[in-house]
Amino acid sequence: MTTTLKPIRSLRPTLDTLFHIDYEWWNKGDRDLRLYLRSHLCADHRAQLAEADLEGDMIDWIDPNTAEVKRTDALVLLMCTHCVHQADFIGEHTSIVDAAFRVFLTNDNQPLASHQLAQQINRDAETILRTIGGKQVYQGIRPILG
Ligand SMILES: [Zn+2]
Repeated sequence: MTTTLKPIRSLRPTLDTLFHIDYEWWNKGDRDLRLYLRSHLCADHRAQLAEADLEGDMIDWIDPNTAEVKRTDALVLLMCTHCVHQADFIGEHTSIVDAAFRVFLTNDNQPLASHQLAQQINRDAETILRTIGGKQVYQGIRPILG
């Protein structure tokens, strides 16, 4: 008789565990993604758009690299084309959670491991892992556990 045991996977994220924004998390409860997205705009755009109604504002945008037409969230597009280039987009006063969120927001939500995030946001990889790899989910940033 053969026993088939599924490989035991550690559910605890490691430095190599990939993270991303789980938008499903935002769909649960009364979490307000739009409001949170706004908080990542640069100061100029926050002021400019304070009164604007941007609920679900999707626009067609042509990717200059691939010429592909993408349906893109106007807020995210604004962030990718302007705010991300501002010096304080990811600054020393940006919290790890906010900084990580901004990275995923502007990289098309490409999964990254803590050590990769560390390079992008200039923080310690272990600290990042402890912050976003714990039981509490912050702003939908979740490990992709296989
Ligand atoms: Zn801006």
